[in-house]
Amino acid sequence: MAEHDHIRLFIPGPVEVRPEILQAQTQWMIGHRSSDFAALYERLQPKLKQSFRTEAGRVFVYTSSATGIWESASRNLVRDDQRILHLVCGAFSERWAEVSALNGKQVDQIEVEWGRAIHTEQLAEALRGQHYAAVAVVHNETSTGVMNPVWEYAEVMRAYPETLFLVDAVSSYLGADVRVDDWGIDVCLISSQKAMALPPGIAFAAVSDRALARAATVANRGYYFDMLELEKSHKKNNTPSTPPISLMYAADRQLDDVLAEGLDNRMERHKQMQQMTHDWAAEAGLERFAEAGFESITLTTLHNNLGIDFPAMNKFLKSRGMMISDGYGKSKGRRCGSRTWATPSPPNWPNSCRT
Ligand SMILES: *Cc1c(COP(=O)(O)O)cnc(C)c1O
Repeated sequence: MAEHDHIRLFIPGPVEVRPEILQAQTQWMIGHRSSDFAALYERLQPKLKQSFRTEAGRVFVYTSSATGIWESASRNLVRDDQRILHLVCGAFSERWAEVSALNGKQVDQIEVEWGRAIHTEQLAEALRGQHYAAVAVVHNETSTGVMNPVWEYAEVMRAYPETLFLVDAVSSYLGADVRVDDWGIDVCLISSQKAMALPPGIAFAAVSDRALARAATVANRGYYFDMLELEKSHKKNNTPSTPPISLMYAADRQLDDVLAEGLDNRMERHKQMQQMTHDWAAEAGLERFAEAGFESITLTTLHNNLGIDFPAMNKFLKSRGMMISDGYGKSKGRRCGSRTWATPSPPNWPNSCRT
């Protein structure tokens, strides 16, 4: 019999949730139109705003995963006669671009090979050539372990006040520095099950006044994710439809603990964990997948250049009460990465390795 009572998740998400957080969800239900709920909503706001490092704007509560906020932002903030620029460097940034297209928006993309970051000059060049209603970027591309230099993009974006800056910080928020006000971010969206370390099912977005002003010019914002409806309810410390109350209890507790630790201390701790992981990989002879200088702080991606039998390894880890991930999207299950092949070659590399 294994000695552990559960599997500790070292996958990108959902991640391990502390017992205190699981416990916080067991509080008694309250009606979401009650004053008790308004009090819960109201006391979450300053904690959320602090955690997003914003004093302006507001933080909307979404009863969905982050994908819902992709749809909300793409649909609400770009008119059908406008263009949106997506910075694509992996599975998540690719999928957000698809969401914009499926919502009828005119999408342009800057695309780089998986494992590489989008360099600031690429963004600057695209903006010089074409007006965009919005730029959409994934800060930490979870599928490749690349952290894009959003803080540098922010400098470029300043010259384009008519272009909204939409940032997916799903897997960086509360693990790496995310600064909504300093970086001029109009929508900073996250979901709960990554570095925020809550169970899945709730998502948050810090939204600027500028974004809401744009939404007011957009027809057909939809129903469930209409930002102007969210704002109306927000002003009454409420949500348009029934919110995930248990997860809001969990968020309340988690943010108390995060802010007590201090955001800077928490980031520092994540950097130390990153260093430990990098040191371990180097010692084991595993090559890093992400472009040097753009490695994610919250997760590390490695080439399987040693040809490790991954399913067997995860089976072993499971027997020890833990689990890691074997990649995402087109890099899932690959025995090699897309940049370099190291020896010795396992005899049965699948075709997908021929990138
Ligand atoms: C996990 C993830 C998403 C998708 O989030 P859901 O909460 O599953 O909708 C989006 N972007 C990034 C960067 C992610 O890591």
